[in-house]
Amino acid sequence: TNNNSSSITVGNSSNSGLIDYQSSKFEFSTQVSQTLKRVFHLNEFRLCQEGVINAAVDKRDIVCVMPTGGGKSLTYQLPAVMGRGLTIVISPLLALIWDQVRALKEIGVECVMMTGATSTSEQNEIYERMKAGPSGGRKEIRLCYVTPEKVSKSKRLISTLEKVNERGGLRRFVIDEAHCCSQLGHDFRPDYKKLSMLKTLFPRIPIQAVTATLSSKTLPDLLKILRLGPITDGRAAKSTGTVFFSAPLFRPNLHYKVLSKPSNAKSAIAAMGEWIQKNHSGQSGIIYCLSKKDAETVAEELREWSGGEIKTGIYHAGVEDYEKERIHVRWREGKVNCICATIAFGLGIDKGDVRYMSKSLEGYYQETGRAGRDGQDSDCVLFYRGQDAARLSSLIYGDVDGSSKLQEMLRFAQDLKTCRKVAFAKYFSASAHLSASAWDAPDALSSSSGSTSTCEICDNCLRDPSSIITKDVTAETWKILKVAQYVQNEGGRVTLANLSDLVRGLGGGLFGVVGGGEGKKGKRKLNGEKEKVDLEDLGGKITLGKDDTEALLIHLVLLGYLADSYHATAYSVNVYIVPSDMAVRLTRLRLEDVKAGRSVKIECTFPAPDPKKSKSKKAKKSDEDEEEEDKQEDEEDKEEGKGKA
Ligand code: ADP
Ligand code: MG
Repeated sequence: TNNNSSSITVGNSSNSGLIDYQSSKFEFSTQVSQTLKRVFHLNEFRLCQEGVINAAVDKRDIVCVMPTGGGKSLTYQLPAVMGRGLTIVISPLLALIWDQVRALKEIGVECVMMTGATSTSEQNEIYERMKAGPSGGRKEIRLCYVTPEKVSKSKRLISTLEKVNERGGLRRFVIDEAHCCSQLGHDFRPDYKKLSMLKTLFPRIPIQAVTATLSSKTLPDLLKILRLGPITDGRAAKSTGTVFFSAPLFRPNLHYKVLSKPSNAKSAIAAMGEWIQKNHSGQSGIIYCLSKKDAETVAEELREWSGGEIKTGIYHAGVEDYEKERIHVRWREGKVNCICATIAFGLGIDKGDVRYMSKSLEGYYQETGRAGRDGQDSDCVLFYRGQDAARLSSLIYGDVDGSSKLQEMLRFAQDLKTCRKVAFAKYFSASAHLSASAWDAPDALSSSSGSTSTCEICDNCLRDPSSIITKDVTAETWKILKVAQYVQNEGGRVTLANLSDLVRGLGGGLFGVVGGGEGKKGKRKLNGEKEKVDLEDLGGKITLGKDDTEALLIHLVLLGYLADSYHATAYSVNVYIVPSDMAVRLTRLRLEDVKAGRSVKIECTFPAPDPKKSKSKKAKKSDEDEEEEDKQEDEEDKEEGKGKA
């Protein structure tokens, strides 16, 4: 089937019994390419579009993973306008449905939409037209866009579809943004889960699920929820089961970078504002924030900081529907150019070039997918600092797989060396169906090479090697673990920020945490002997700066020497840092032996000190000044963290 000119008749597959949907010619191939030109006014297919369309016309169940902006819509719109029958498209967002319906109407395709906002008389008319089909005197409806809520709640829609099906007029169900089905994914929507009923009620109607993000765990879950058969590769598909397609997920116009985020809120806003003004002044962008409150605060402060030059808008699940639609319009018109949002914003949005912070690599990939859909260069920036980890930890508490996902995200954020594309490829290829090279070549599914080439455009690829230094931090680690163990043995609790202060000899010292910390002041009396214990007995303070210490602590969490420990109260979840079993193995050794290299060697990469800064006028600034500054920062941190952990 490698021979492009070989003609294959549907149902009568090649000698091997496998159908190559991507590169074979079918009896309907001429009609497919004519429809592409005549109806859609396009010249050629992109990525795996042609294969998906062939499999769709061949009435197969399909799962298609293609990057955002790759052109998934065409893979179901084109088969829908070829031949007769009704295609139902289930899509999660009103704005997205509007955009597609408008675009289809412009090119003369008969399509309608039905959402919670559609009036009863309009609905009546649509139902009548559906039931009548081509014999109704009006043109047959080819595509009907609906929200998942409509499918799960409207008995009338289902009974109409049953009638359409009885007369043989129901062609296909399309599930857009299909990752929303799985609770294991990053954007679960309960109404999507109810789409299980489609295969039960309409066992013979093909389902086409399309998305930009599926990991090893979400794919089997998706198949189960939609009751689809086992998958087979679209380039060598069996005659039964679900046909699977994936296109290279890497988009060369997206420039990934992680920037260090200042520790206090005010400087963080200034850092983002400066970055936006310097790189994308007047252009469109999205800042993804962790919570609704964050989105509101960032929007307001960024507007203030820029004196109104950055026109911000707010978008999250708590914003009223009419307001959301209004923001979409203002955004498209350019009256708002920087949307501060939670994940609720952006499914299917056509612009964007700024980023903030995410709880999982899958989510981050999906969010960044909204940038540069026009193919123009766009930046996907993650503003990150070690302390965010604690905040994120408390947010993922209770999520299925939350902590392993967060660890992947932190690994990505902390990594100053690995190409970002390679990192994504490694993460997504944990799936048996997406080989690591799926990031490179469209034929990657069948390819045997498992390596991914570097992108040459991300921060890590472009980084000057002399701007980072890898240090042996075994002795520092030993000291940190000693302190963590001491605190634990004494029944104290430390957050990441506390521990960072302690090991650097700040923040009230050990007694502050163990003897007088967190509401225990005065109640707990330590005997005279213990009171004398100070940092010197545990090896002395470590000599790293605040940022490097935080980075090292996260690094130790990722290596497994330290772990998060969750304490849920009625109001919040607090995350403390505790030593793990692995820590015991290292601290059993003497510090001299560790220093002499008689243990495992632990390394950590840090940004090299900025030569410009240290040689500037301020170079003579004394250490004390710096310490004073650090302390001020620490105070601000505490202000910020109030009431959290
Ligand atoms: P997705 O749903 O995968 O994020 P869309 O279906 O919204 O992407 O398509 C993104 C853009 O690409 C649209 O503007 C669409 O018109 C365009 N497009 C899709 N297929 C092609 C093609 N074969 N050639 C040129 N442009 C295309
Ligand atoms: Mg889409």
